[in-house]
Amino acid sequence: MHFKMIRRWLSIMVLMASGCAQQPTQPAEIPGSAVPLRSVAPLLETAPVESAGDAADDPAIWVHPQDPLQSLVIGTDKQRGLNVYDLDGRLLQALPDGRMNNVDLRDGFTVNGRRMALVAASNRTGRTIALYLLDPGTRRLTRAGDPVPTGFVEPYGLCMYASHGGDHFVFVSDSGTGQFRQWRIRADGGVIRAERVRAFRVGSQAEGCVADDESGALYVAEEDVALWRYGADPGAGNARRAIDRVGGASGLTADLEGVAVWLGKDGQGYIVQSNQGANRYAVYRRDGANAYIGSFELVDRAEAGIDGVSETDGLAVTSHPLGARFPDGLLVVQDGRNLPAGQNQNFKYVSWRDVARALGLPGEG
Ligand code: CA
Ligand code: CA
Ligand code: CA
Ligand code: CA
Ligand code: CA
Repeated sequence: MHFKMIRRWLSIMVLMASGCAQQPTQPAEIPGSAVPLRSVAPLLETAPVESAGDAADDPAIWVHPQDPLQSLVIGTDKQRGLNVYDLDGRLLQALPDGRMNNVDLRDGFTVNGRRMALVAASNRTGRTIALYLLDPGTRRLTRAGDPVPTGFVEPYGLCMYASHGGDHFVFVSDSGTGQFRQWRIRADGGVIRAERVRAFRVGSQAEGCVADDESGALYVAEEDVALWRYGADPGAGNARRAIDRVGGASGLTADLEGVAVWLGKDGQGYIVQSNQGANRYAVYRRDGANAYIGSFELVDRAEAGIDGVSETDGLAVTSHPLGARFPDGLLVVQDGRNLPAGQNQNFKYVSWRDVARALGLPGEG
């Protein structure tokens, strides 16, 4: 009895000693920022893209109107075309239609009485906007209308906006010059037409952009300079406000790449910005003055054999629950280095709940 007690005491002492030796790992620091860097791990990854080298670039998420588990991710292979993946990351459809750099989509586009999703991609091969329709019945993309000439030497960034008035718009930037143009896309009796409605200059190279359909904000990442908030409506002009700047208090560094909006209730939610040069993501409030909240990195999920994420170009996020794995929505990010070495690039799927927990964001319930 006495011996057993001593042994128990000894084992407790050993546990306490090991507890002292194994301090919980401290979050890494971001140079120039008072907020520590948080770590999150992706849940799964897509099939690698067909092209080698820097090829995967930008994803978009389509939420199935009836069955969230049938939702899709569309990703660009910027050497080859578009790919469509399911929520397990399996490739469902490949469209080798040109060197598509960025892609985006909006639901509620009615053609001949059928409600579909309109998908747009910046095609560097033809210097056009490539348009597709996504039919919820088939979950497949079909080409829609003639490619829209951009007039740019190299169409680069692309994002879409659906206004309160029911109009669909596409924004495209020109690589290098920082010019943006905006088109309204309409279906007139089954014929899809594009009309250029606006042009503005950001100042220098800008690719990542996203429109917040509810608030009418257009967020644009000027790669070496700042994340800007413009108005998305065609009459919004050149007025803008800096959400954050390279070298600012959040520790933001160049390049700023993909940006996305997680839509919460009552105007709440989050802006996610890829800080490509630092292999991390900055998160801002969607409401008010878009206050900086914190940053996270995507580390490997070793037990699932999923590598971490670096040098993210494009990203996309939805707040819509997509089943048990993504109860608060899904974040999809491009991964610049898909391990094990020798594999082509791909996209990683992250449960938004994991991001929210790491950053201490309030749950949506
Ligand atoms: Ca890249
Ligand atoms: Ca870029
Ligand atoms: Ca990786
Ligand atoms: Ca890119
Ligand atoms: Ca991998």
